Amino acid sequence: MKKTILLIAATIICGVSIAQDTQRQRLEKHLYTLASDSLRGRAAGTDDGRRATDYIRQQWQRMGMVPLWNNNYDDPFIKNQPMSSGSNFCNLVGVIEGNDPVLKKEYIVIGAHYDHVGVKGDKIYNGADDNASGSSCVLEVARQLIKKKNELKRSVIICAFDAEEIGLYGSTQMVSQLKAHNMLDKVKLMLSVDMVGWYNANGYLEMEGSKTIADSKELLSPDKLGSDLKVKLVPFENSLFTATDTEPFAEAGIATLAVTTGLKSPYHKPEDDADLIDYDGLNRITDYIVALTIKASQHDGNIASGNLAKKHHQSKFEIGVSAGYNHCNLEYPDATFEGKPYLGFQSGIMLQYKISKNFNLHADVLYSYTHCHLPFANDAYSQGFGMEQHSIMIPTTLQLGIFKTGFGIHIGLGCYYARVMGGDFYGGGSNTLPVYDINKNQFGLVWNIGIRIGGHWQLNGTNCIQFNKTFNTTNGLPEANENIYSVSLGYYF
Ligand SMILES: [Zn+2]
Repeated sequence: MKKTILLIAATIICGVSIAQDTQRQRLEKHLYTLASDSLRGRAAGTDDGRRATDYIRQQWQRMGMVPLWNNNYDDPFIKNQPMSSGSNFCNLVGVIEGNDPVLKKEYIVIGAHYDHVGVKGDKIYNGADDNASGSSCVLEVARQLIKKKNELKRSVIICAFDAEEIGLYGSTQMVSQLKAHNMLDKVKLMLSVDMVGWYNANGYLEMEGSKTIADSKELLSPDKLGSDLKVKLVPFENSLFTATDTEPFAEAGIATLAVTTGLKSPYHKPEDDADLIDYDGLNRITDYIVALTIKASQHDGNIASGNLAKKHHQSKFEIGVSAGYNHCNLEYPDATFEGKPYLGFQSGIMLQYKISKNFNLHADVLYSYTHCHLPFANDAYSQGFGMEQHSIMIPTTLQLGIFKTGFGIHIGLGCYYARVMGGDFYGGGSNTLPVYDINKNQFGLVWNIGIRIGGHWQLNGTNCIQFNKTFNTTNGLPEANENIYSVSLGYYF
């Protein structure tokens, strides 16, 4: 009994004390709690993750957060099967309602993932910057917005996302829930606060995705928001490999901002601890996000510009450039010997049209320089001829693949046409040069494999197998076909 009374007293004192603390002190408390060894790295789907959920839920209850759905913050889910019993992941979702009779039906979503990678071997990955920092920040953003809710015109949805680290499951779940509730098109802006604890070391706060906002300078400039924070507006999220909870929202066509102080912290290392966090910076970032959210909630007209990052949204028709090297071999179907390949190069324009989910039509218009060696009769290579060709080459393929935004992989099959602009034989030692006539119109089969990363970049391996003859001769040189292998790197605008 005595123990219970003591516990109740301690809880009350603790509750009172957190309310009386300054925002900076509260941020520190949240962060040290979420990133403490006792939460063992908050891995998604574990009891450690649940303890983080409990902490955030308790904070929300104390600050008077209103649940968005079903009188309950919790949105349990398992991957791709929302609201199932036995769910092992859990988002928390709350709302701060706006005051404008019309605009309050529109939403600004602010989210931070609270999960991290847990324990590996005997090492606890506390994930202080990733993302106890964002989770703590959004807790205090929410507290301030609840206090200032009279200033909000649009409503603000606050999310604590689970299972970001294992594939953005929490934010994907949130998007499907918004869709199920017919609210997705009412979301006018989404902010993901992920890794915001290293402001000083980074030198500025990054707002990635400013070009998705119509009036980004007016809306995001710190001096217009009464903040002395250094803010760098990054037009679009462009990181090749890292993704954050903005992704499912951006893919749904929503304007998004990834709020971060970058990758300065010991990213996904056990050293990412609470004592390394810049609490002063975190405090100022919290104030900046509050001011920005209030301003965005009051903004008349469209918040979204309609532009989306390439990594989030690939248009139906795309154009790009590519460059690479090739390896051209002459094959002699009627002879016992083979040519010897040399290196050439190619560069040009890529055109791509998305036919359906899994099919693309792809064409290149390339300047191609190929170079190979062709032995004359049984001469050693040293006595053979070199041949080079310059051509405009147009390989066209139908590509089958997985084309996710930000990542794709394909195989393609088609044909090519090459218009030869010039070519020559040379060398041959004591042999006389053949009387030749290089075929001006060449064609054949083409197949390729490729990967696409981060929206813009594509790496391709291609093989062109010529059907007609490379050249005609009248003095005994056997007929040959070209076989060209190439590797190229492309960039879509
Ligand atoms: Zn993260």
